[in-house]
Order: sequence, then structure tokens, then C-alpha cells
Amino acid sequence: MKITSIEWGRISIPLRTPFKTALRTVASVEDIIVKLTADTGETAFGEAPPTGVITGDTSEAICGAIEHHIAPAILGWDMDDFQGATQRVQSALVHNTSAKAAVDMALWDLYGKKLKTPVFRLLGGGKTHIMTDITVSVNPPEVMARDAEIAVQRGFDCIKVKVGVNPALDVARLAAIRAAVPAETVLRIDANQAWTPKEAVRILNGMQEKGLDIELVEQPVKAHDLDGLKYVTERSFVPVLADESVFSPMDAMNILQMGAADLVNIKLMKCGGITNALKITTLAELYGAECMIGCMLEGPVAVNAAAHLACARGVITKFDLDGPMLCAGNPVHGGSRFESKDIYMCEDAGLGVSAVDGIVPLGALA
Ligand code: MG
Repeated sequence: MKITSIEWGRISIPLRTPFKTALRTVASVEDIIVKLTADTGETAFGEAPPTGVITGDTSEAICGAIEHHIAPAILGWDMDDFQGATQRVQSALVHNTSAKAAVDMALWDLYGKKLKTPVFRLLGGGKTHIMTDITVSVNPPEVMARDAEIAVQRGFDCIKVKVGVNPALDVARLAAIRAAVPAETVLRIDANQAWTPKEAVRILNGMQEKGLDIELVEQPVKAHDLDGLKYVTERSFVPVLADESVFSPMDAMNILQMGAADLVNIKLMKCGGITNALKITTLAELYGAECMIGCMLEGPVAVNAAAHLACARGVITKFDLDGPMLCAGNPVHGGSRFESKDIYMCEDAGLGVSAVDGIVPLGALA
């Protein structure tokens, strides 16, 4: 099986409601889709969201990296040497992890199709169902409480709350949400780097003293401030999850070695795809740390790939794969079924995606 063409284009999926974090506001998913075709006629899909404020990867950068570096590195490649293909993607250029993730997941899709096996089974997984949290955007406390109530009505029992815009309001935000949802609802929060280390400790311990029962906090301080992250991890009663601080497997190793965080958030777009994500799960196993699998604001092709990884590795115990749930439609045929909090795996070969509607072509190499 040889790769005979690589195509890329854009899809647009409107969101149910605008997505607001400490870093940005977004109204629709505008992702780059990659399609590989093999000489056997098999096709495979990958996806990358442009998330400039987090990864630095814009749509133009993703397409440029694929067109000029990654696609030429794998065109004509024989999938019998699958590992060689994944290595060529990673070594085609530095950074550009979103473009690499899109092509890497498409390679796993194609390899699974070649072996007629779903990727999560190929990786040894036996789980066929996971449950995701859902994100509540940053807004005034009463709006967030109402959004949390709506999420509970939609069946969610774990809510991720974005905080960090005007930190003085963060305790009030969480208090309003805690009062609005059932006691058993799990609340996790994401500060997206917005706090100083001391502010983080004060706010987090203030929340716990008020009995708000926060499961974990994501990225309380600046991504580069590993000493600050460790400061919070050592002093906060709320477990700390490193997100923007961990892109590569090497980043994960440094953080785990330092004891700078309790947990690590894996996102395919940060680490460059399933191949590198597997290395992070192995490191986490070695250090005895659990992982969250997360996603950017991304569509069902990429989140389906993340779900395959999540079902394959037991060290991934927290699931934040709500991208498709935030979308007002689904242009993808095949792959996981996304039903409210439930994600059911598809037993079709590869990643199981057979087609994607509405792709606006942007380029191809054949
Ligand atoms: Mg996060």
C-alpha cells in the first residue's frame, strides 16, 4: 500500500454558542482537513484546527507546512514501513504540531485500514465508550450558572469551567455554578494561564474552603513558568493539571520529573499526533501520573482520533473531548458516535471515518 495523493482543504462548522476563554472568543470551527489516498483506493482523514493563541498554528501555517514539508516527505511512501512514515512527518520540519497531528492521525487511519483493524484495538485498547465533560465559557457568574444548568439538563455530569477573566470574580463564578448544579456534578476549572502563582493558590484554596469541591485546575499560571506551576502544585489543595506547559513528550518528562504538576493534559494538536501522544502516556505511566485527553476547539475527525487514543490507554482517566458537542452540526461520516456526554467507538477499520462533507479544497500533491 503506497500513498498516492495528499489533499487538504477547509471545513466550517458553526458553534451552538460562542466559545470564550481567557485567551479568545470564537464563533465557528474552521478546521483544515487532510485526506490521504493509497494505490489500493483506501482513503484516510486527518484534521487540524488553527489555534494561533495556543499552538501558534494558523490555517496558512498548517497548509504551508503540509504543502512544502510534510506531504513531500510521505508522498509515494509504502505503508509497510508505517513507523518510517510517522517519523518522516515529525522530522519534516520543527514545531507545526497541528499540521503534523493532522497527517499523523491520517497515517494511523490508513494503517488501520491496511490491517483491517480499528486503531484503538491496534493499540491494545478494549474500552468502547468514554464520557466527556463539557466546557462552560467565561461570562458573568449568573450566565455561567445558567449555562451549567443547561449542560446538566443535556446529560453532562462533569463540567469544565473557564475562569481567569477578571480573577476577582472567579470564586463568585464557581460558587454560582456549584449552587446551580446537583451536588454530584464534577466541576473542573481551566484558568488558561491567567493567574500569578500566589493568586492561584489564594483563589484555589479559597474555593475549597467555601466547599466548592473542585476536582482539578488546568494551567493556573503562564505556560513557561514551570517554577510557578510547581509552587501552585505544592501549595494548592486542588490537583494541578499542566496543559499549555506540555506540548512534546520532552515537556511532559520535564514536568513530571520536576513534580511541577499532578496530571498532564494530552492534546494531539500540541504533541503532533497519536505517535507522540503514546510516548506521553508511557512517561505518565512511568511517573505514576494520570492524564487527561483534551482537544482544541476542533471537529469530529480530530476528536475521533483522540477518542481512539483515550480508549487504548488506561493512564488516560479524564476526558475533555467536547469539541463535537459544541458544534451545531456534524459533516463527518463514520467514526465515533458523539451523543451528549457519551462517545461510542466505531469498530470500522482505521479511525472509521469514510467521508467528510463540505471540504473547500485548498491544495493537493499527487
Ligand atoms: Mg486547557
